[in-house]
Amino acid sequence: MITVLKRNATEEQRNNLIKWLEDQGVSVHVSVGESVTILGLVGDTSNIDMDMLKLLDIVDDVKRISESYKKSNRKFHPEDTIIEVPSKASSDGVTKIGGGHFSVIAGPCSVESEEQIVEVAKRVKAAGASMLRGGAFKPRTSPYAFQGMRAEGLELLSIAKKETGLPIVSEIMNENHLELFEDVDIIQVGARNMQNFELLKALGHVDKPILLKRGLANTLEELLMSAEYIMAGGNENVILCERGIRTFEHRTRNTLDLSAIPALHEMTHLPVIVDPSHSTGRADYVKPMAMAAVACGADGLMIEVHNNPACALCDGAQSLTPDQFDDVMDKVGKMRDIL
Ligand code: PEP
Ligand code: MN
Repeated sequence: MITVLKRNATEEQRNNLIKWLEDQGVSVHVSVGESVTILGLVGDTSNIDMDMLKLLDIVDDVKRISESYKKSNRKFHPEDTIIEVPSKASSDGVTKIGGGHFSVIAGPCSVESEEQIVEVAKRVKAAGASMLRGGAFKPRTSPYAFQGMRAEGLELLSIAKKETGLPIVSEIMNENHLELFEDVDIIQVGARNMQNFELLKALGHVDKPILLKRGLANTLEELLMSAEYIMAGGNENVILCERGIRTFEHRTRNTLDLSAIPALHEMTHLPVIVDPSHSTGRADYVKPMAMAAVACGADGLMIEVHNNPACALCDGAQSLTPDQFDDVMDKVGKMRDIL
């Protein structure tokens, strides 16, 4: 339920109303805009008498919200959320994403060696990426496939971070690994874990942004409900990632749902980035899809880059060489310039 306050409501009146609402057992999310103040009521609102609320002097309007995602809902929070990540590679010491700030996260599917991750980190930084990705715990379909370097992979990412200053992004699969992620700047939840609700709840108590990827066969509403699990725990720094969904089409690994970008921007205030690598599965499709994502309003991109894709232990076919990545960054920059 949302309550829109009249412009002339005083702070004291507002606080009294909030206190009363909280006494009814709901939590109140206050959004003070330039012209309007909105109270978002989260929890069981069934005891709240809408008609009585509407009659209060300071209340302009009361609406029931049918969507069950509240904290991520743009109706409660009209302004875009901007996520800030400390960055030694950035002149002002911070990388921002969302609300007009565009950011590219690039790096290999998996961390494979110090030489590999440091070399890729230097190249993607030189090309203009603002964060380094690298999988240490890998969710593989086959238990016999390379599972990632695990804790050692995270240590190698930290070395690449020290060498380049780039903040690091890596995927978590189990909340028991959280202490290993201390130096990780953004914790990724992969498509396969989008509805691992216990993991999401644990990440709600973490003081780091979470990059939440859309599940293989999940709707946008389900994606936002998963974001809601994290936000309900107190961590409101969630970045959403469209990474393609399963369809009947097999020419590409997945089908990139570009319409998810404007749709999510309408539904939520959270930043939306696009992963053209996992959504196509093909290095030669990454550039057109990256440019398309920018044209559709993405707040950033996540792209796989490997120093030697032919020998990659995971996802070589969709990984760009550093030279190809230079070209993609050039075209993405040109696309952004014309928008
Ligand atoms: C990844 O980004 O390394 C990954 C496994 O992606 P997804 O979860 O989108 O398949
Ligand atoms: Mn991958």
